[in-house]
Amino acid sequence: MSRYPARAVVDLGAIRSNVRALAAHAPTAQVMAVVKADGYGHGLLPVARAAVDGGATWLGAAQADEALALRADGLTCRVLTWLHAPGVPMEALLHADVDVAVAAPWALDAVVAAARATGRTARVHLKVDTGLGRNGLMPDQLPAVLDAALRAQAEGALQVTGVWSHFAFADEPEHPTVRRQAEVFADAVRLVEGAGATLEVRHLANSAATLTNPSVHYDLVRPGLAIYGLSPVPQLGGPGAYGLTPAMTLEADLATVKRVPGGHGVSYAHAYTTPTDTVLGVVPIGYADGVPRHASGSLPQRPGGPVRVGGRRTAVAGRVCMDQFVVDLGPDARDAAGDRVELFGTGADGGPTAEEWAQAAGTISYEIVTRVGARVPRVYVGERDGGPADDRAGAVAAQSAGGAA
Ligand SMILES: *Cc1c(COP(=O)(O)O)cnc(C)c1O
Repeated sequence: MSRYPARAVVDLGAIRSNVRALAAHAPTAQVMAVVKADGYGHGLLPVARAAVDGGATWLGAAQADEALALRADGLTCRVLTWLHAPGVPMEALLHADVDVAVAAPWALDAVVAAARATGRTARVHLKVDTGLGRNGLMPDQLPAVLDAALRAQAEGALQVTGVWSHFAFADEPEHPTVRRQAEVFADAVRLVEGAGATLEVRHLANSAATLTNPSVHYDLVRPGLAIYGLSPVPQLGGPGAYGLTPAMTLEADLATVKRVPGGHGVSYAHAYTTPTDTVLGVVPIGYADGVPRHASGSLPQRPGGPVRVGGRRTAVAGRVCMDQFVVDLGPDARDAAGDRVELFGTGADGGPTAEEWAQAAGTISYEIVTRVGARVPRVYVGERDGGPADDRAGAVAAQSAGGAA
């Protein structure tokens, strides 16, 4: 077990059950578990294996290196990677039998060159910008790229396997752009199929669309956040409303507990001053570990990120520092150095959640979990079905591989 005074405990049983829940939300589609960004901070390889055990038949990664790391670990399911810049190791991706996205004309040239160099047939997913205004072929670029792709397909260099896109407002299912993008997507699919391509998978839905918009499930859904048990639509419902369980619990051990008088300034710039005689606790984890500095607290004006100590809730008092922050445990506290501080977890038992941290920091839960620092050990529980997920004695402690990216 690592001696680091904090850890992210990741329940792989929750990952498996979240994938099963997502598959039930999209019964006509396959599930691609999106494991980019080191599995949203949970650890690429353990999460990927758990997602496959839960029924995911595809894994999705933004970066080529992440996709290659999945193959190097022996994962044999379908893998798609999509965020490439010139210099992407396309030949290695083809050797590793990874499906590749083409989101720009240069990328098609790179795929064809790599296919010729390796003698492999690339599986290509044409990405269309249906209105996100980010990566992807504009609809007016699609015909020429499609034409070139079908010529390369005729010579055996590639197979046009998929057409896909991504929403701008999936988390607001009623937003007019959602319908508009779905229409542009349907047009793109018609164009590609009309040109003679036999598509294996058409895919459009991220977590929010998987949970709220069955009309866009198509053949494959691509949930990321929901795999980790967080709600992509917190304004519509928490994880429980969708049958999801947050997989990560972030906790630390109290470094110091001490009594201070009322009127005592706390941490840099004394953003917090103790209202009365009280007991302060020092939590040895800070913004270098991913605790957002924007969740600093200056009660009563501005509550900081929530924590639970000894069954009671309190919050960050004063500035979050690089390696530590302070909590006000209250005048009657009996907590001691070494006691466990929970920053966030399942929330099922009234504990603090990543969503609450997101609100305290003015961000989204995606950022809270993906930014948990590389130096925070990931500890995996629930590796086998039936085992008590919270049985720490059976925990397999492992420093995260740190992601491949
Ligand atoms: C990250 C990502 C996803 C997953 O999004 P979530 O909102 O986390 O479900 C799906 N598709 C693409 C293209 C992505 O970049």
